[in-house]
Amino acid sequence: MTSREEKYDLVVVGAGAAGLFAAIFAGRTGQRVLVLDGAKKLGAKILVAGGGRCNVTHDTVDPKDYAGGTPNAIRKVLRRFTVEDTIAFFANQGVELKREETGKLFPVTNKARTILDALLNACHDANVLIRHPQRVESILSTTDGYSISGEWGTIYSQRVILATGGQALPKSGSDGHGYKIAQSLGHSITERVFPALVPLILPGEHPLRTLSGLSFDATLMVKNQSGKLLHQTTHSILCTHFGLSGPGILDVSRYWRDAHEDNSHSSLLLNFFPHVPEEEIVNELLHGGTKSPRNILRKWHGERLVETILHLAGVDATGSCAQLTKKDRKSLTQTCCALKLPIQGDRGFTYAEVTMGGIPLEEVQLKTMESRTAPGLHLVGEILDVDGRIGGFNFQWAWATGFIAGTNPI
Ligand SMILES: Cc1cc2nc3c(=O)[nH]c(=O)nc-3n(C[C@H](O)[C@H](O)[C@H](O)COP(=O)(O)OP(=O)(O)OC[C@H]3O[C@@H](n4cnc5c(N)ncnc54)[C@H](O)[C@@H]3O)c2cc1C
Repeated sequence: MTSREEKYDLVVVGAGAAGLFAAIFAGRTGQRVLVLDGAKKLGAKILVAGGGRCNVTHDTVDPKDYAGGTPNAIRKVLRRFTVEDTIAFFANQGVELKREETGKLFPVTNKARTILDALLNACHDANVLIRHPQRVESILSTTDGYSISGEWGTIYSQRVILATGGQALPKSGSDGHGYKIAQSLGHSITERVFPALVPLILPGEHPLRTLSGLSFDATLMVKNQSGKLLHQTTHSILCTHFGLSGPGILDVSRYWRDAHEDNSHSSLLLNFFPHVPEEEIVNELLHGGTKSPRNILRKWHGERLVETILHLAGVDATGSCAQLTKKDRKSLTQTCCALKLPIQGDRGFTYAEVTMGGIPLEEVQLKTMESRTAPGLHLVGEILDVDGRIGGFNFQWAWATGFIAGTNPI
């Protein structure tokens, strides 16, 4: 049981990537720092990240890799703690990072545990205390700081860093309670708070579901009701027993959901041939003569996928190109290059990697990540309205915001 008299210079609520980083840099300045986390097991999200290898950052990080806050605001934060700073931080902790072909950086050990251990060791070296499971239920403003309470009691601190994450993977401990705490201290939350980097569901009978386990490169396009292109990405996608996943789908999911909330007639279109100009497909089918459409499409994709494309287009797979009617060619080209996906929804926060929405960046001073409504309160990491695409961008956001709040003097 914590005694009522306990006082700290800084209490960090949440021992995820952003909270641990903030605590390390604050501890290094000699402040008395306590980190509280509600989870039984620390760093669950770090351990599952990047398929258990933890994709720590990306070799180039730019505001265009993020959504939520304005590019200008995101840039201001990211330039304070760069990719080079991340690499140097982990090198100083004895962890070498390697860059993979995709631009993603991982520890050379290929083990997320290496990253979590490095963070916990750095906390220890900076005299940071970590207590868990100690879930924080409420934070109240006092005359000289904050009182932080939970079932375990109440402690006092001059400053608080709220690093409770968003709502993705709630079993890791990030269940959205941090939003309520922030609201109680005068903050607002964006109108939309959704799962992002999340797989999408197709109807049970959709032919792509029968290809479970198959992955291929594709271009995905989100269009509004009038056909205006809202977002486009080209990346690998994976067919699954429930619908679609893989980096391309995860990246596009938040844009699809956002557009769908605006208007249910917005659409997600799939181009199976991102590296082949549409005219080439049209010409090949038009002048293919005795060749079968199947053979033409097999130049670019394997048999299972080609059969499914022909099935989706409703074209007789046994015929020749010469036998295709104009309507057949049109249907096949459209299926190849702009198949409308009848998405039924996403798989929710349980399967999401990150949260779209949160506390608007306008509500914090970007130089310190300090709240504009509650002096002495700082907000870092995923609790803020910023979400990055897949590739290490979300951790870079956590490192940068944690660093800024942690290095802020009392
Ligand atoms: C499966 C998966 C894979 C991912 N892979 C990658 C990747 O490879 N690269 C990448 O860049 N990003 C990845 N991400 C995203 C990344 O993990 C997050 O964006 C990042 O961890 C956010 O850090 P955070 O510290 O802001 O929040 P979190 O990591 O969510 O940490 C918040 C902490 O606060 C604690 N907490 C919450 N509420 C309370 C409370 N009331 N009291 C006390 N403690 C509380 C939680 O227990 C948790 O420990 C992945 C996410 C998931 C789910």
